[in-house]
Amino acid sequence: MSTYTYDLVIIGGGPGGYVSAIRASQLGLKVAVVEKDKLGGVCGNWGCIPSKALINQAEAYHAIDALEHMGVKIDVSGLDYSKVQAKSRAAADGSGKGTAYLMKKNKVEVIPGTAVVSGANEVTVNGTQKLSSAFVLVATGSRPRELPGFEFDEKLVLSSTGILAMETLPQSLLILGSGAIGMEFAYIMNAFGVQVTVVEMMPRILPVEDHETAAVVEKAFVKRGVKFHVGTKAASLKKTGSGVELTIEKDGKADVLKAEKILVAVGRVPNSENLGLEALGVKLDRGFVTVKDYYQTDAPTVYAIGDVVPSPLLAHVASKEGEIAVEFIASKVKGTPAPHEKKLDPLAIPGATYCEPQIASFGWTEEKAREKKIDYQAYSFPFAGNGKAKAVDRTEGLAKILFDPKTKEILGGHVVGLYATELIHELLLAKKAELVPEDIATMIHAHPTVSEAVMEVARGAEGWAIHI
Ligand SMILES: Cc1cc2nc3c(=O)[nH]c(=O)nc-3n(C[C@H](O)[C@H](O)[C@H](O)COP(=O)(O)OP(=O)(O)OC[C@H]3O[C@@H](n4cnc5c(N)ncnc54)[C@H](O)[C@@H]3O)c2cc1C
Repeated sequence: MSTYTYDLVIIGGGPGGYVSAIRASQLGLKVAVVEKDKLGGVCGNWGCIPSKALINQAEAYHAIDALEHMGVKIDVSGLDYSKVQAKSRAAADGSGKGTAYLMKKNKVEVIPGTAVVSGANEVTVNGTQKLSSAFVLVATGSRPRELPGFEFDEKLVLSSTGILAMETLPQSLLILGSGAIGMEFAYIMNAFGVQVTVVEMMPRILPVEDHETAAVVEKAFVKRGVKFHVGTKAASLKKTGSGVELTIEKDGKADVLKAEKILVAVGRVPNSENLGLEALGVKLDRGFVTVKDYYQTDAPTVYAIGDVVPSPLLAHVASKEGEIAVEFIASKVKGTPAPHEKKLDPLAIPGATYCEPQIASFGWTEEKAREKKIDYQAYSFPFAGNGKAKAVDRTEGLAKILFDPKTKEILGGHVVGLYATELIHELLLAKKAELVPEDIATMIHAHPTVSEAVMEVARGAEGWAIHI
């Protein structure tokens, strides 16, 4: 019989916290989640779900071009962006209700309020309510990074939250940062007719993606009228009567860009302050909670997962880290052997950007492999050689594989174009199952499908791609 009220108290009900709670309940633990705002966290309320609801509507609006090609005339003057935005909020609300239902179904106690870890086995909610627990899991997530001189007012200077709350379209928008968030909003706004200019400090857009797949996205965006300033520093910002003026610097030369609004999407900051962590001996590194195997912090009963720890800031990463931590905690509670998986393999984490064309990847990029002197061979197969992509007139795209030339181990997978964010999983499953390109190359893929491009890239790695 435990001396504590709970086996596990989780702080934060985002995709890290709520998935951990369900897994804990499945494993027979008595679990509570403390959430100060809404269940679903950033992902459900101000991230993945509402942004994908906007992207889906942007795609529908974009598809008008295809209808006009058939001779259909569509009058777009009635576009009411507030309705687009309302649908995105409805998606977020629906997601939150779904999460609440799952909490109830799994008998997870949800405690509203702001939590602090007040002891190795104690969490205090709203300064008064004390919860005693054998273990504590910190899943408090992150918030948009604010740059000095570019503070969010959510009117002219927007964070990702501010742009998701925006009910009218600006005529023009500057975007700082060409990572996943910046590029998704660049796509959405451009599709709805906003003049979009992206400023990126790194020498190219989508800096974490492979140069070859990122180039496909850049070409498609430029064709649609998005302007890019890469290798460019955002030096200062001035608010004017009609919008903002951004001073940029490149190669020692300054220039001024004007727009109605600016979106600052230059990363996120972990929510690790005021949680009582340092008092328990938990170490932080640039604000991120330092964790060991099984996401255990330096305080043995306190674990941390998701955006608050230094791993890719993605919803599926938060959820999976939570599952690993909770399975270990359950083994401690029950006195059973520790599970095999101690941490995520950083080379097997998929990342996806849902702009059009979509881009998805895992593992090594060519640039990183060269930098780390990894012996690799790469092969790319263009969608122009894929029957389905040709049939539906979506040949912009490619699949790419990096593999060890000696062992044939899959080192990286990259897909850009139609269904990229779905296709990536075939390559990743192959990696996880320790398959080699030959296994994908010899598996029959239905025709015509874009999946055949994945088969062809694997055949190419084996030296016998057919449709090129
Ligand atoms: C615009 C945008 C789009 C995105 N799109 C994607 C995508 O397509 N795919 C993807 O994988 N990721 C995406 N992300 C990232 C994703 O949202 C995050 O990686 C994910 O939400 C992290 O989950 P988490 O559980 O760690 O934290 P969060 O989702 O941030 O949840 C943390 C929760 O903790 C609560 N909390 C914090 N402090 C306390 C406290 N002291 N007491 C009680 N509660 C507290 C917060 O209110 C919050 O609900 C996107 C992010 C943004 C901003």
